[in-house]
Amino acid sequence: MQHSVEHVDKPSAGSNADAGRVSLDPNELAALCEQEIGRRDKRFAIERPVQLTAVSLDGMLDTSRRHNRTSREISARGISVDVTSGTFHASQPLLLGMHFEQLGVQYAGLIIRRVEQLEDSTLRLGADFGGPAAEVLSTGHLMPEFRAEQMAFVMPQGPQFYDTWTESGVLQKTLLDHVMVCPRCAAIPTVRNACRKCGSGRVTNDRLIHHFACAYVGFKSEFETGTNDLVCPKCQMRKLSIGADFEYLIGENRCRSCGWRDSEVELVGHCLRCSNRFEMTQAREQELYRYDVSRLDPLAVTSELG
Ligand SMILES: [Zn+2]
Ligand SMILES: [Zn+2]
Ligand SMILES: [Zn+2]
Repeated sequence: MQHSVEHVDKPSAGSNADAGRVSLDPNELAALCEQEIGRRDKRFAIERPVQLTAVSLDGMLDTSRRHNRTSREISARGISVDVTSGTFHASQPLLLGMHFEQLGVQYAGLIIRRVEQLEDSTLRLGADFGGPAAEVLSTGHLMPEFRAEQMAFVMPQGPQFYDTWTESGVLQKTLLDHVMVCPRCAAIPTVRNACRKCGSGRVTNDRLIHHFACAYVGFKSEFETGTNDLVCPKCQMRKLSIGADFEYLIGENRCRSCGWRDSEVELVGHCLRCSNRFEMTQAREQELYRYDVSRLDPLAVTSELG
């Protein structure tokens, strides 16, 4: 704002630097600001059942400190509520639940700005929307997020935190998925078919050839001659053609690391974060939940009332 005032005061005639810049009268600007603040501050009487719940600075809900009250006034910025019991102080964070006939309860975070003593032992709380509860209810807080640097799905808070909010009826929990994660650090592992003895992924399955005429079965490499020709090592028959003279068979799995031979392989996970290598049957199952909330939109409420 200071910038604009300075700019307007400067003589602009003949100055190329000012070309194309919009000059705004400082009085006009002040009037605009006032109008904007006035709109945000415009209060409307609203008598509705509300529920105030104490919230700690880290966003934990304290349902033992929950009070049912009546709201008095609302603006796009805040709300006032009359209370007759409970302890309240300025800058205290709260969760507001406001009842609507059609929509049910809608929630918003609050920070108390003023505590005013009325004639009859009633306290009038003036609170602004925002604070720790508002942060918990924000979209980014309610969905698991995949973080590449951690190779994991994470939520901003632990499961117990969300359980408290869900049990209190504020959040609705929906199961999104089950994912297999590293049993040590919960990162998403890479997975391979591996040797059952040593866990190595260096397992090959050499194809076998079954020569019909002499019934010999051997590795494909034994039939290879360096040319395109396949020659049976047992009966020396040349120019074997697939289907007519031989068939391919699935061979044994051979581990290039430990030499183990096996008809079966095993799913083995490898964690890229903590280097843990484990059988996938040992993987931990992580449940991914989404949380939904019915949010109070103060702008919608005030424009309805205005
Ligand atoms: Zn790990
Ligand atoms: Zn092996
Ligand atoms: Zn043969």
